[in-house]
Amino acid sequence: MKKIFILFAVVAVSFTACQKDTEVIKSQDATVKVDMSDWSAYTDEADLKGAHEHGRGCYSMHVLNEKLRNNPGLEATMYKIEKDTRISTSKKPAPVEDDGAYEGAITIPVIVNILEDYNGEVTTAQINSQIDVLTMDFTNLNPNTSGTPAEFAPVVADCGITFVLAGVNREISTLAEWGTSDAMKRSSSGGIDVTDPSTYLNLWVCDIGGGILGYAQFPGGDPATDGVVIGKDYFGVVGGVYGDGRTATHEVGHWLNLRHIWGDGRCNRDDYVADTPVSDQANYSCPTYPTEHCRTNDMTMNYMDYVYDDCMYMFTEGQNARMRALFVPGGVRESLVL
Ligand SMILES: [Zn+2]
Repeated sequence: MKKIFILFAVVAVSFTACQKDTEVIKSQDATVKVDMSDWSAYTDEADLKGAHEHGRGCYSMHVLNEKLRNNPGLEATMYKIEKDTRISTSKKPAPVEDDGAYEGAITIPVIVNILEDYNGEVTTAQINSQIDVLTMDFTNLNPNTSGTPAEFAPVVADCGITFVLAGVNREISTLAEWGTSDAMKRSSSGGIDVTDPSTYLNLWVCDIGGGILGYAQFPGGDPATDGVVIGKDYFGVVGGVYGDGRTATHEVGHWLNLRHIWGDGRCNRDDYVADTPVSDQANYSCPTYPTEHCRTNDMTMNYMDYVYDDCMYMFTEGQNARMRALFVPGGVRESLVL
């Protein structure tokens, strides 16, 4: 749960009489004040230890910490994005009608960059199945959503985001472990360079190693490494508990500025989304509802938890608003919808 304090100041409302008609000129300057005191770009190292070894193996928060340490300007950039997000997602009461949210349809063209042992190892069917799963999940068409517990049903979101395959780049590489240093994103290190990240979502598919399923770069980072990395064995519909294509759904959630559902910390650390319950830990495998932490039931079925692929099936309206805040005029991902 996040705390937002909104202060509105209607600076001036003036009435001007014209010669023929009476024209009402409203001059409004709404000032939105948001509380940023709970925000942190970093995740405590103690809270990162071990989590990925128990299951899902998302390395996004580790990579973010590393990038923050190596790029002194990144934290300030992310602070601004967070502040803009909080302003955009704050409900503004009348008389200001425009709540600032981007409400249009969002179509994201995807470039898939594949590093494989032999040409065609990652099949066209596998690629297409991944694009289909992304669209299904971001438009609330995952059939498992019918199992949503009653307490969470009112906040299930159709995010209205669809994905289309825009191109596939392939390179043959037998490197067994690409790691998490973004080597797969640079031709100079044997990888494939990013394709215009202002226009495309770039996915890299390769063997990451270390039991890691994938990792994403949060908004605000270096354009040269912007995108999502997915382990070859977890890309598309390939079978197995992590084989329904939901690593990409989870990581694209990060790429659109979503944090893990438990906030990567104790009960006082949040995911900065108001309609997701507070929790102090990830959930694994396929929990039976309810699972309680921090005196509320965990939303284990959220795509941003760590459960098996077929046990996660929802984003919330709050997460949807947080993602869409990136697409408003001046937003960090606005160029994708221009
Ligand atoms: Zn994650």
